[in-house]
Amino acid sequence: MTYYPDLTPYVYWPECVVGDQPYPDGVEVLNVGWLEAGHDFPTFEGDPDPQFLKNLITLVADHSVCATRGFHDCDQRHMDGEDFQFQSDDGRDLFLGSAEVHVVTPDGRWLIAPNLVVHYVRDHGYRPPEEFVEAVEAMRVAPVTPSP
Ligand SMILES: [Zn+2]
Repeated sequence: MTYYPDLTPYVYWPECVVGDQPYPDGVEVLNVGWLEAGHDFPTFEGDPDPQFLKNLITLVADHSVCATRGFHDCDQRHMDGEDFQFQSDDGRDLFLGSAEVHVVTPDGRWLIAPNLVVHYVRDHGYRPPEEFVEAVEAMRVAPVTPSP
Protein backbone atom coordinates (compact mmCIF):
# COMPACT_ATOMS: atom_id res chain seq x y z
CA MET A 1 0.00 0.00 0.00
CA THR A 2 1.05 3.59 -0.38
CA TYR A 3 1.99 5.62 2.66
CA TYR A 4 0.41 9.01 3.28
CA PRO A 5 0.75 10.93 6.55
CA ASP A 6 -2.53 11.54 8.36
CA LEU A 7 -4.40 14.71 7.44
CA THR A 8 -2.37 15.40 4.30
CA PRO A 9 -4.35 16.15 1.11
CA TYR A 10 -5.84 13.00 -0.41
CA VAL A 11 -4.42 12.10 -3.81
CA TYR A 12 -4.60 8.30 -4.04
CA TRP A 13 -7.66 7.85 -6.22
CA PRO A 14 -9.69 11.05 -6.57
CA GLU A 15 -11.67 9.72 -9.54
CA CYS A 16 -12.91 6.62 -7.73
CA VAL A 17 -16.44 7.92 -7.35
CA VAL A 18 -18.08 7.85 -10.77
CA GLY A 19 -18.10 11.20 -12.53
CA ASP A 20 -15.60 13.97 -13.22
CA GLN A 21 -16.28 15.68 -9.94
CA PRO A 22 -16.25 12.98 -7.27
CA TYR A 23 -15.80 15.41 -4.40
CA PRO A 24 -17.87 18.56 -3.99
CA ASP A 25 -16.19 21.83 -4.97
CA GLY A 26 -14.16 23.47 -2.27
CA VAL A 27 -14.15 20.49 0.05
CA GLU A 28 -10.90 19.66 1.76
CA VAL A 29 -10.19 15.94 1.27
CA LEU A 30 -7.62 14.41 3.65
CA ASN A 31 -5.85 11.11 4.26
CA VAL A 32 -6.33 9.00 7.37
CA GLY A 33 -4.81 5.62 8.10
CA TRP A 34 -2.62 5.05 5.03
CA LEU A 35 0.03 3.23 7.01
CA GLU A 36 3.11 1.46 5.77
CA ALA A 37 5.90 -0.42 7.49
CA GLY A 38 8.80 1.84 8.34
CA HIS A 39 6.59 4.81 9.21
CA ASP A 40 5.67 5.19 12.87
CA PHE A 41 2.06 5.87 13.78
CA PRO A 42 0.35 6.98 16.99
CA THR A 43 -1.30 4.30 19.11
CA PHE A 44 -4.07 4.19 21.68
CA GLU A 45 -3.09 3.78 25.30
CA GLY A 46 -4.99 0.61 26.10
CA ASP A 47 -7.89 -0.47 23.94
CA PRO A 48 -9.66 1.89 21.56
CA ASP A 49 -13.12 3.02 22.57
CA PRO A 50 -15.44 0.04 21.87
CA GLN A 51 -18.08 2.29 20.31
CA PHE A 52 -15.51 3.73 17.93
CA LEU A 53 -14.37 0.29 16.82
CA LYS A 54 -17.94 -0.99 16.51
CA ASN A 55 -18.94 2.01 14.37
CA LEU A 56 -15.82 1.63 12.27
CA ILE A 57 -16.72 -1.99 11.51
CA THR A 58 -20.28 -0.94 10.61
CA LEU A 59 -18.88 1.77 8.33
CA VAL A 60 -16.70 -0.73 6.52
CA ALA A 61 -19.50 -3.30 6.24
CA ASP A 62 -22.14 -0.87 5.02
CA HIS A 63 -20.38 2.18 3.60
CA SER A 64 -17.21 1.02 1.85
CA VAL A 65 -16.69 2.92 -1.39
CA CYS A 66 -14.07 3.02 -4.12
CA ALA A 67 -13.72 -0.74 -4.27
CA THR A 68 -10.53 -1.91 -5.93
CA ARG A 69 -10.05 -5.07 -7.94
CA GLY A 70 -7.30 -6.45 -5.74
CA PHE A 71 -6.42 -6.26 -2.10
CA HIS A 72 -4.00 -4.07 -0.27
CA ASP A 73 -2.13 -6.16 2.25
CA CYS A 74 -1.09 -4.93 5.62
CA ASP A 75 2.71 -4.87 5.75
CA GLN A 76 3.07 -4.32 9.48
CA ARG A 77 4.57 -7.03 11.65
CA HIS A 78 2.08 -9.75 12.67
CA MET A 79 1.70 -12.49 15.18
CA ASP A 80 2.05 -15.70 13.18
CA GLY A 81 -0.27 -15.63 10.22
CA GLU A 82 -3.27 -13.99 11.86
CA ASP A 83 -6.08 -13.53 9.39
CA PHE A 84 -7.35 -9.99 9.06
CA GLN A 85 -10.21 -10.54 6.61
CA PHE A 86 -12.37 -10.80 9.67
CA GLN A 87 -16.12 -10.63 10.02
CA SER A 88 -18.47 -7.98 11.31
CA ASP A 89 -20.70 -8.64 14.34
CA ASP A 90 -23.40 -9.99 12.08
CA GLY A 91 -21.04 -12.39 10.33
CA ARG A 92 -20.41 -10.54 7.09
CA ASP A 93 -16.89 -10.70 5.67
CA LEU A 94 -15.32 -7.27 5.57
CA PHE A 95 -12.71 -7.81 2.83
CA LEU A 96 -10.34 -5.33 4.39
CA GLY A 97 -7.90 -3.70 2.02
CA SER A 98 -10.36 -3.67 -0.85
CA ALA A 99 -12.04 -0.27 -0.53
CA GLU A 100 -12.21 3.04 1.33
CA VAL A 101 -14.40 4.66 3.93
CA HIS A 102 -15.25 8.36 3.71
CA VAL A 103 -16.40 10.35 6.72
CA VAL A 104 -16.96 14.06 7.27
CA THR A 105 -15.83 16.36 10.08
CA PRO A 106 -18.26 18.86 11.66
CA ASP A 107 -16.59 21.65 9.65
CA GLY A 108 -17.05 19.77 6.39
CA ARG A 109 -13.64 18.21 5.70
CA TRP A 110 -13.72 14.73 4.18
CA LEU A 111 -11.49 12.09 5.72
CA ILE A 112 -10.57 9.20 3.45
CA ALA A 113 -9.29 5.96 4.98
CA PRO A 114 -8.53 2.56 3.46
CA ASN A 115 -11.00 0.12 5.00
CA LEU A 116 -7.95 -1.75 6.26
CA VAL A 117 -8.05 0.92 8.98
CA VAL A 118 -10.25 -1.47 10.99
CA HIS A 119 -7.39 -3.93 11.12
CA TYR A 120 -4.86 -1.21 11.96
CA VAL A 121 -6.98 0.00 14.87
CA ARG A 122 -7.97 -3.42 16.15
CA ASP A 123 -4.74 -5.35 15.65
CA HIS A 124 -2.02 -2.72 15.65
CA GLY A 125 -3.48 -0.21 18.10
CA TYR A 126 -3.36 2.58 15.51
CA ARG A 127 -4.91 5.78 16.81
CA PRO A 128 -6.34 7.87 13.96
CA PRO A 129 -6.58 11.66 14.31
CA GLU A 130 -9.24 12.92 16.71
CA GLU A 131 -11.27 14.29 13.80
CA PHE A 132 -11.61 10.80 12.38
CA VAL A 133 -12.51 9.19 15.70
CA GLU A 134 -15.16 11.86 16.25
CA ALA A 135 -16.63 11.51 12.75
CA VAL A 136 -16.79 7.73 13.07
CA GLU A 137 -18.38 7.89 16.52
CA ALA A 138 -20.96 10.28 15.04
CA MET A 139 -21.33 8.03 11.94
CA ARG A 140 -21.03 11.09 9.76
CA VAL A 141 -20.66 9.26 6.43
CA ALA A 142 -19.74 11.28 3.35
CA PRO A 143 -22.46 11.36 0.70
CA VAL A 144 -21.76 9.25 -2.39
CA THR A 145 -21.92 11.09 -5.69
CA PRO A 146 -24.54 9.37 -7.86
CA SER A 147 -23.52 8.00 -11.23
CA PRO A 148 -24.30 10.36 -14.11
ZN1 LIG B 1 -1.51 -5.97 10.06
